[in-house]
Amino acid sequence: MRSPHKQPLLASVIALLVLVACSEPATEYRQSLFIFGTVVDLKLRGVSDQQAEEAVQVVERAFQRMHQDWHAWKPGELSALNQSFASDKPRPVSPFLLPLITQSQLLFEQSEGLFNPAIGKLIALWGFHGDELPSGAPPSPEAIAAMVKLAPGMDDLEISNGQVRSHNPAVSLDFGGFAKGYALDIAIDLLHQQGVESAIVNAGGDLCVSGDHSGRPWRVGVRHPQGGGILAAVDALDGECLLTSGNYERYRQYDGVRYPHIIDPRDGGPVRHIASATVIDRDGGRADAAATALTVAGSGGWYQIARRMRLKYVMLVDETGTVYMNPAMAKRIDFQDGVPEKIIISDPL
Ligand code: AMP
Ligand code: MG
Repeated sequence: MRSPHKQPLLASVIALLVLVACSEPATEYRQSLFIFGTVVDLKLRGVSDQQAEEAVQVVERAFQRMHQDWHAWKPGELSALNQSFASDKPRPVSPFLLPLITQSQLLFEQSEGLFNPAIGKLIALWGFHGDELPSGAPPSPEAIAAMVKLAPGMDDLEISNGQVRSHNPAVSLDFGGFAKGYALDIAIDLLHQQGVESAIVNAGGDLCVSGDHSGRPWRVGVRHPQGGGILAAVDALDGECLLTSGNYERYRQYDGVRYPHIIDPRDGGPVRHIASATVIDRDGGRADAAATALTVAGSGGWYQIARRMRLKYVMLVDETGTVYMNPAMAKRIDFQDGVPEKIIISDPL
C-alpha cells in the first residue's frame, strides 16, 4: 500500500511535469514552396523535423501534379480536355481531374452561374491566359458580346462513366477561381495521412488550417484589398479555410482604366465594383468558388448568393472601402489598421 504522505509529493511532481510540458514550446517546422505562380508557406507542429520534411515533400509532389494537370492554358490533362470540347465526343478524364468538374458543376448551379469555370475562352479573350499581365486595349465589345451569346456553362457538360463531353463547343474550363482552395484541402488531407494534425498551408493569404497552435486557434490575416498589408485578423479553427478573391491581384491597365481578372459571365466584362470578397468555410474549394462568385454578385447580390451557397462567414470590401459582412463574420473579424469608416452588417445568413 502506498504511504499517504507520499501522495502530495507525487501530485506535485506530476503537476511540475504537466507545467513543463505545457510551457515547452512545440517545435514548428516551416517551409515555403513556389508553386501555382505563388509562394505557399507551410507550418507544421507536433512532429519531428524529419516527419515534417517528408510530409511537405508529399504535398509538394501533389501540388506539382495539380499545376500540370489542371492548368487552363499550358499542355496537360485539362487543356487536352478543353480541346476535345470542339467536338461533341466524350473523353475519359482521370480521377484526379474529375472531382474538380463535378464539384464545380454544383457550385456553378448554387451560385446561379456567377462562379462559372466554363468561361475560359472569355478569360483568354481578356488576356488572362498568360504568365504576364495583359497590356494594350481591351477586347472589342463585339467580341465580348459574341462570346457571351454562346453562353458556355458547367451545365453544358455531360459526365458519365468517367467520361466528359460538352454539348457546347464554346466551353473551355478554367479552374483559376477554384483550384487553389481545392488544392489547399488536399494538402491538409495529405498532411493528415502523414500523421500531421497541426498545420497551416498558406498560399499568399488563401489558407486552410488543421488543429491548433499550442492550444490556441491559428491566428491568420485577411489581405487588404489595397496594398499588400493585412485588413483584419481572424482565429481560424480546426478544419477551416479562408479564401479571398481580390480584384487587385491581376488586371489589365489601359488608358488609366483597370480591367481586373474576375469576369461577370452575364455581360462578359470585368468586375470593378468589388475590391475583395472573403469566405471562411470548412471546404477550401467551395470557399474559393464562393469568394469568386460573391465578387461577381457584388454589394447588391452577395447576400442572396451566400444564402444559396449556405455560407456561414462572408465579408466583401467595395472599391470605396465600405465593408459588408454577415453578423457571424463580424463577430470573428478583428480589424488591424483601424476600423473601416463604413461597415454594413446584413441579416444573419
Ligand atoms: P479568384 O482569385 O479565386 O477569384 O480567381 C480568379 C480567377 O478565376 C481568374 O483569374 C480566372 O482565371 C477565373 N475566373 C474569372 N472570373 C470567373 C468567374 N466568374 N467564375 C469562375 N472563374 C472565374
Ligand atoms: Mg475563387
